[in-house]
Amino acid sequence: MPCCMCEEYGWEDPQAVVFRDLESVKDYCLFHAPVERKGVTVREFNERVADRIQAIVDFDDEDVLCDFSGAVFPGNICFMSECNIPWVSFKNAHFLGTVSVYGCSFESDVDFSDALFLEEVDFQESTFNGTVDFAGAKFFNNAFFEGATMHGYADFMNSSFLGDVDFYDTTFRDGVAFCHVEFGGKVVFWNTLFSNEVKFMKTKFSVQGAVFQTIQFEGSVEFTNISTINKTILSFINCKISHSEILIQDCDPRCCDFTMQRDLRNIHFINSPWDIMGRVKASAEEQEGNLQLVRDFYQRMKAKYKTENNEYEASKWHVAEKESQLKLLGRKDGSRFLRDVLWLYKYSSGFGEDPRQAFWVLLMLLVLPLLFLVCIELSNNFVWWGFDHSRIDAVFTEWLKFIPLTRAADKNELGLLYAFMVFWQLLITIQTALFVFALRNNFRR
Ligand SMILES: [Zn+2]
Repeated sequence: MPCCMCEEYGWEDPQAVVFRDLESVKDYCLFHAPVERKGVTVREFNERVADRIQAIVDFDDEDVLCDFSGAVFPGNICFMSECNIPWVSFKNAHFLGTVSVYGCSFESDVDFSDALFLEEVDFQESTFNGTVDFAGAKFFNNAFFEGATMHGYADFMNSSFLGDVDFYDTTFRDGVAFCHVEFGGKVVFWNTLFSNEVKFMKTKFSVQGAVFQTIQFEGSVEFTNISTINKTILSFINCKISHSEILIQDCDPRCCDFTMQRDLRNIHFINSPWDIMGRVKASAEEQEGNLQLVRDFYQRMKAKYKTENNEYEASKWHVAEKESQLKLLGRKDGSRFLRDVLWLYKYSSGFGEDPRQAFWVLLMLLVLPLLFLVCIELSNNFVWWGFDHSRIDAVFTEWLKFIPLTRAADKNELGLLYAFMVFWQLLITIQTALFVFALRNNFRR
């Protein structure tokens, strides 16, 4: 009987049997036998792995697969630097120790689909010349891809990383998909080069979030339906988005921190509203010491939408910018006057963007003197059984003195009352101007 697993995975060269499971009456070769039944040390096992790879290299036929599918690697394994690995499959392989592949060159396609990596994995400085398939792979510890270059399409679909993942200085020459990937630790993309399209679809990020720093995106980038938990932050720091677009679709963009991302021109938010709680508010606004950066970010977003002639969005970012400006002034000494003016601007017209609020304030300014005069009249002259109707006229005449463009305040009034009437007329004039300004801003869209 040949090895049952060699048969199951369709190995071209079923291996000699080293262990028979008496319960299931199944035979296993060295590569597929459980760890404790291999009958060799880890070192001897790794030598057999190296021999198997070398045999394929010596055979020198690129159509021959170096098959390790379903194999169980019992301990730490290290592929030495400058080692050339042919077309290889580690599909469903179990790596029980660390895997170190430093500076190796994978000459053809590599299949790690559904592989399990129980310890740390390191692909530093490796070159993948064919496609790279990590679909369904599970990394129980940290994974490093520092300085690696992937020339073929890299597929990480359905894989899960329970530890940290590092793509520092990694180069993806073809597309890469992180769809349905689950990141359990921190993800770092730093100095990474994406020459083609990148997809993050239904990707789950942990509370430790992700950093996208000084990345060069040369193809389109999609973040669709990504899932984050509370306080997860995806930071974008000075990324270069040259001829491509970053599309953020069907997401809650407030998990993204763009305060350190200068260039926002090609980042587009589709069905991903920022203003769920009444107004646009970046999560970084709540962090201590970040307010200036956040304000500048709001300003850049406003400028971006103005360039795109999207006045509707520009208005939202204008309000957010002014709100953060108000907070900033509140923290600075000696800015009380500016803060108070901005505060009045907010409550009189929603920073010139809310005609409804401006209208209600205007109405209040018009009605208040009337109420005031009615109260005085009632307290001084009101008699139930002898109400003098001519007093109504008198009250209205007095009221009109507070309204601009009706009649000037009587010069015979007391000096202070005259000044107050002029002041009130000025207030109404200013508020009318604000109302018209807000109305114009609203209809411009
Ligand atoms: Zn086997």
